[in-house]
Amino acid sequence: MLWHWVTLLGALCVGSLGCPQIVSRVQWKASRSGCLKTLRKPVDTAVVHHTESAACTSSVSCRRQVKVIQDFHQGPSKKWCDIGYNFLIGEDGQVYEGRGWRTVGAHAGPGWNGRSLGIAFLGSFKSRVPNAKAQAALKSLLSCAVQRGSLGSDYVLKGHRDVVATSCPGQALYDVIRHWPHFKA
Ligand SMILES: [Zn+2]
Repeated sequence: MLWHWVTLLGALCVGSLGCPQIVSRVQWKASRSGCLKTLRKPVDTAVVHHTESAACTSSVSCRRQVKVIQDFHQGPSKKWCDIGYNFLIGEDGQVYEGRGWRTVGAHAGPGWNGRSLGIAFLGSFKSRVPNAKAQAALKSLLSCAVQRGSLGSDYVLKGHRDVVATSCPGQALYDVIRHWPHFKA
């Protein structure tokens, strides 16, 4: 049932508010979400991650990878209610719906998940940056989030390492986003 709603919301977003096309959960064949916590609107922070997995540059490979990450997050070692991130971005230039706009994620620790959108680039960005298409997709998603009221207009942009001790989102990617508007370590 839940994915019907998520899909509907995704469809409403496309085009209507200058939002990027978002690959819906149905499109990447997501398993059902068991998450129950609703994310408040607007949140005040966007937290950027990398998945530290293989790069993907095609729709087929990125969809497959998002599903592998969901399987890992819902599987026996983590047992989370869903994939941890609110959205994921591939180097195919597409945004993938994770928990989406309305569900609290599991990506930045208990003090942050309820007040932020967690957005992960698919790939490892320690020594190289996401390609231009992927960076443009994040910018577009952030501006969409503000337009639809999911992210406050005075939001703060952070890397995962700014809220917890981790190397995420990778040094090279971190060096990009820390020069972006709204960034605050
Ligand atoms: Zn992270």
